[in-house]
Amino acid sequence: MKNLLRNYRTKHGVLIADGATGTNYFSKGLETGDPPELWNLIKPDNVINLHQEFIKAGADIILTNSFGANSSRLKLHDCENKVKSINLEAASLARKAISLSKNKNENLIGGSVGPTGELFKSIGGNLTYEKAASIFYEQAISLKEGGVDFLWIETLSSLEEVDAALHASEKSELGAVVTMSFDTSKRTMMGVTPHEFLKFISKRKVKPIGIGANCGIGPPELLLSIKEMKENLNEDILLVAKGNCGIPEYKEGKIFYKGTEEIMSKYAGLCKDIGVDIVGGCCGTTPEHIRAIKNIVLNKVSNFENIKSSSGSIIDEDVFMKRINSELGVPWKDSTQSSSIPKLKRTSRRRARRSL
Ligand SMILES: [Zn+2]
Repeated sequence: MKNLLRNYRTKHGVLIADGATGTNYFSKGLETGDPPELWNLIKPDNVINLHQEFIKAGADIILTNSFGANSSRLKLHDCENKVKSINLEAASLARKAISLSKNKNENLIGGSVGPTGELFKSIGGNLTYEKAASIFYEQAISLKEGGVDFLWIETLSSLEEVDAALHASEKSELGAVVTMSFDTSKRTMMGVTPHEFLKFISKRKVKPIGIGANCGIGPPELLLSIKEMKENLNEDILLVAKGNCGIPEYKEGKIFYKGTEEIMSKYAGLCKDIGVDIVGGCCGTTPEHIRAIKNIVLNKVSNFENIKSSSGSIIDEDVFMKRINSELGVPWKDSTQSSSIPKLKRTSRRRARRSL
């Protein structure tokens, strides 16, 4: 089971993961604040439809609608007793969507696992490592029972939480992809850098199948984190990029993302050129974005071919930065630096991300 994704990568080349879940449900009637995971039980057809749209658009990997389906998050909606049923259903709806698609059995299912939303005791909160590990295990084992191929642990910001989630994946004997969200200055909300994340992973006895970055500020910023990982990555671990369409803006009561299909395909082109193994999208990414990403990834031309840096970098730093600046925009141009972000703003960003 653990080699499934790597074998698939070897067979198919760069793989495409799907886009957003929650933000695509908004156009189908999901209200802000409602947990998208409940749709597995009350609107299963909508869940299957979105999976099918992503498969049609070219996604090789689809993620279950279970990002916030852990007891800690579901408790906020008085649904903590539904962890098993929601995760079982999330996996089986993804499996059903694949069986209904033309290319039956040619897609893989990642069981989406998001953060608990609680702070660890080590930084002043109430969550113990043991409790976090048991919360993740409860979700992992239900996703496994429902039929996912591996876990897709995403949007994490602390290494303690990465540790607890990977512990759950090992205990449930499921392989895992794990991605963190890097915000300003290439640091997660808890201050972890891509390099520190990598160092932490390299010390683990059981390695995840893939690691990478998701969400965050936007494609240009995410690419800087991804490149830092690529330059230090053990080649047995796949590199994953799931960038969002930028920070959501609220206009006339609706959520709006700046990332056009053109921007997201340029981001995918850069991902491919620096050697990312799996490219997908996070918040704001629609099936149309995924179609555009797939088209770029299928294109064999690499603009970085024959460009190797004398410093040992995978690509020349100047060339890389010039392409980011010209194709995607200057990193952190529109965002406040972390030191000056008011607490409220950071919290609301975390909240916005809750609806992957
Ligand atoms: Zn996101």
